[in-house]
Amino acid sequence: MSRMPAVFIGHGSPAIALETNETSRAWTAIAAAIPGPRAILSISAHWETRGTAVTAMQRPRTIHDFGASFAKALFEMQYPAPGNPELAARVAAMLAPTPVLLDQDQWGLDHGTWSVLVKAYPDATIPVVQLSIDVSLTPGERLEMGRKLAPLRDEGVLIMGTGNIVHNLSAMDWSDRDCAPFDWSARFLGEIRDALLRDEPQRVVNFASLGDDAHRAAPTPEHFWPLLYVLGARMPGDRVRLVNDRIEHGSLGMTSVVFEDGVDARQAA
Ligand code: ZN
Repeated sequence: MSRMPAVFIGHGSPAIALETNETSRAWTAIAAAIPGPRAILSISAHWETRGTAVTAMQRPRTIHDFGASFAKALFEMQYPAPGNPELAARVAAMLAPTPVLLDQDQWGLDHGTWSVLVKAYPDATIPVVQLSIDVSLTPGERLEMGRKLAPLRDEGVLIMGTGNIVHNLSAMDWSDRDCAPFDWSARFLGEIRDALLRDEPQRVVNFASLGDDAHRAAPTPEHFWPLLYVLGARMPGDRVRLVNDRIEHGSLGMTSVVFEDGVDARQAA
């Protein structure tokens, strides 16, 4: 079985689930370019908990966790992928000694997961498990969790973080999706991009040291955090591929990051 990539998806508005645009096409293209996963482990910005939990039910529900201003059709969308209780138990075992709640009825698939997967895997036949984001962890602890989960990549599991590297909704220019990125927004994304491409994970862990740029690009860091888990699952020899690498509305980074087995590089070596 070939090694699965680990991917971070820049997800933006839930409404993309209803649209066809460069972002939705990027998600479709990412899925088309990688081996088909046996299961998906999603770490979404939208499931924040105290302590760590994993969805362990057979049939996770589709959660419509967004405001009433969104279209009725979005509230009617379902992503009926099965769960995978065995994978949930495996994740809990891998994260030991951290206690992991095997969630049966609190969560399911939130829009950070399903708005992406309806474009990436529209058949909804691949089992999906969500891992929660424990708000009490340090960035380094998130990276370490990703390291512990990395062996899943050799078991046919796609590790997917879903958030946004730059996510400042209150600063966004809602009238112009394609306006120039704000200076701080471009600088912050540039620093993170550079750290990823140079394989300097500690710079990503220390994102808050970017000071005012970090405060403005990630004023609440929950959309940034999924990147740390995915980065932890990076393996030696992985190459990095940036997809849809741009900023919308001045302060919404849409960049997705694919860490994938560097077969080409190894053959060349
Ligand atoms: Zn979001």
